[in-house]
Amino acid sequence: MRLLIMGPPGAGKGTQAALIADHFGIPAISTGAIFRSNVARQTDLGRQIKTLMESGNYVPDEITEQIVAARLDEPDAVGGWLLDGFPRTLHQVQALDRILAASHHRLDAVISLEVDDEALVHRLLTRAEIEGRLDDNEQTIRHRMRVYREDTAPLLATYAERGLLLSIDGDGDIDEVTGRVAKSLERVPAN
Ligand code: AMP
Repeated sequence: MRLLIMGPPGAGKGTQAALIADHFGIPAISTGAIFRSNVARQTDLGRQIKTLMESGNYVPDEITEQIVAARLDEPDAVGGWLLDGFPRTLHQVQALDRILAASHHRLDAVISLEVDDEALVHRLLTRAEIEGRLDDNEQTIRHRMRVYREDTAPLLATYAERGLLLSIDGDGDIDEVTGRVAKSLERVPAN
């Protein structure tokens, strides 16, 4: 399986990605997690992107695309993967298309988690208390939601046109949402 999971910040992408990837025995690859780890380890990349991330802005496409291409080349990703938080721009969609074409693979499905805005802000403020993420404060949260709506949400139409989009109601508890995702993935034909 080669899957994407998309949705606004706070929609539960990371949680669902881990559960779905586990189910299929594929790695869940989160660009956000890779970036946060670089910031925490104060690598060159981390130092370069720290301010951008803390303000809720996107990391430049070229940097993000390089990170993803390298990660998808690792041995555990040969048989499939679930990308969480990538692509987020049209440029990244095209980069992923090229990566897939080069390896003669195709996407199986794009999971879109849908949650309304006020529920998102509430979830993110709760996560801020639990995880202490520097980009989980109300001002940055609202900014990230705006960036998502403007730059990333339009990409869903691209995947819908390709017949790959699975729109899932992301409201409710974790198991309930996982159940909905699993059910809609059952109908995805094998590539
Ligand atoms: P996430 O954990 O997916 O919410 O990502 C956290 C932050 O990492 C985002 O707000 C961006 O600053 C950065 N980031 C993650 N994925 C991408 C991406 N595909 N393109 C650009 N920036 C990204």
